[in-house]
Amino acid sequence: MILSNAHTHTQFCDAVCSAEQMVQAAIQLGFTSLGFSGHSYHKNTLDYGMSPAGTQQYIQEVHRLQSIYLDRLTIRLGLELDYYSSVDLSPYEYIIGSVHHYLDPETGAFYSYDGSVDSFYETLEKGFHGDIFALARTYYTQVTNLITQKRPAIIGHFNLITKRNDVHHLIDEDDPAYQRLALEALRACAETGAITEVNTGAIARGYATQPYPNLTMLRFLREHRYPVMINSDCHDASKLNAHFELAVSLLQEAGFHSVMVLGRDSLFEEVGLCDLALPRSYKEEVHQ
Ligand SMILES: [Zn+2]
Ligand SMILES: [Zn+2]
Repeated sequence: MILSNAHTHTQFCDAVCSAEQMVQAAIQLGFTSLGFSGHSYHKNTLDYGMSPAGTQQYIQEVHRLQSIYLDRLTIRLGLELDYYSSVDLSPYEYIIGSVHHYLDPETGAFYSYDGSVDSFYETLEKGFHGDIFALARTYYTQVTNLITQKRPAIIGHFNLITKRNDVHHLIDEDDPAYQRLALEALRACAETGAITEVNTGAIARGYATQPYPNLTMLRFLREHRYPVMINSDCHDASKLNAHFELAVSLLQEAGFHSVMVLGRDSLFEEVGLCDLALPRSYKEEVHQ
């Protein structure tokens, strides 16, 4: 059975656990592979991104863990590359491309798509004069530019701007105009060959009830035979495989029979949904 997660953070960025704690949790849960994807450095994102010195320590630590745990777990060194980051990508085995912010070209203000409800409203009001469609258009243009220009292996949390939609209801995900905009961007991104992640991180942190992308997007990906993978965007080892069952059931509903995972012999491998080891929670595992 296979269990894998390619989107994992550590204390080198904004997670509560060390890289080694993540590895030990993964082994305990029966993971076959684990990928680290620290947030790339940018001067405006040091509240959650790695510093230049921290980036070097992160690389060294993951290399150390790769050699120590060689026989027990396939560990891959990745990076979650932010839209505004300009960093050396050569040390990494794979890249997740993610948009988290909008830099207003007129004022130089840096607005978040990914923060609290209040910060999202600030982004909407100050960055886009309250026009949610303008925000969505800009966000998906950024995502498309990042994926088509930097060519990461994985498309990170594709529809992040709906993260707080359960609370603020600002984006009507059934609106045909919104769907056209989002699916056009998704097609442009997926056509690069990048794998779209089904990201359960916002559920694990209590911000959302559904993974990114939504079911409409998953059906679109399936219809066009674009590959997907399940990741938890993990910031806490106890949630390393949180809500994978939900992701699997949505993928089945969308018609998928397989997903991509990090492999041992090749970087990515396709496995059947029925070959995935659906998780027991780590808490149950260690506190029983
Ligand atoms: Zn992210
Ligand atoms: Zn992440």
